[in-house]
This record gives sequence, C-alpha cells and structure tokens, in this order.
Amino acid sequence: MSVKSKGNSTVTIFPDWCKGCGICAAFCPGKVMELNDQGKAVVVKEEECISCGFCELHCPDFAIMVRPKADDEIPAVCRAVLEKAARKTDMPADGSAAEKNSSDMEKG
Ligand code: SF4
Ligand code: SF4
Repeated sequence: MSVKSKGNSTVTIFPDWCKGCGICAAFCPGKVMELNDQGKAVVVKEEECISCGFCELHCPDFAIMVRPKADDEIPAVCRAVLEKAARKTDMPADGSAAEKNSSDMEKG
C-alpha cells in the first residue's frame, strides 16, 4: 500500500460554484478546507493535502480542483480561465448559452 505524501498538490476552490455544504471541510483527512464567514469553502492548510481526491470527487457542485504541483505551470493557465468562467454570473450552468451560440452559427 502506498503512503500518500503531503504538500504535493494545489487545491483550488471556485467560490461561485461552492454552495457551502461543508462536505469537503468535514471529510478532508488533512483539514485543508474550512467554511468562511460567507459560507464558502476556503483552503487554509494546503500543505496538509495528501492528494486523496475525496473533495474533488465528492463536491456536489464541482467546485474543487486538486492538481499536482509539478503540473502547476500548465494548470495555472487553465485555472485562470476556469476561475474567470466561474465568476461570470451571466453564464448559465447548464450550457444553454453554448447551445444558443452554436445554433446561431448554424443559421449564419
Ligand atoms: S463540497 Fe463543494 S460545495 Fe460543498 S463546501 Fe466544499 S467546495 Fe463548497
Ligand atoms: S485531496 Fe484529500 S487531502 Fe487534499 S484537500 Fe481534498 S480531501 Fe483534503
């Protein structure tokens, strides 16, 4: 059985997607997350993350991303794009804007 080592991952929470259910904070073995006074999950002890993936898998709103620090250069770019997308409150979560755009393109 492999032993997970701490501090090898970057944990990102997208606050616009977090509904504050607390699952991540309650079950994270490293107590990496807490809920802040706005009821959103925040990363408080990233160095304790053992990269188990529980939070990313169980967050009901897909609001957490855990990535290896070794990959930080590429995910940093991806993270910036995702964070920007998450903050666009006018973007429907069901992707209907994308469908509309593609049907608009088909019409010419
Ligand atoms: S599990 Fe997801 S939705 Fe729930 S508090 Fe954590 S980040 Fe927010
Ligand atoms: S990957 Fe595991 S240890 Fe790391 S923050 Fe998520 S639940 Fe906690």
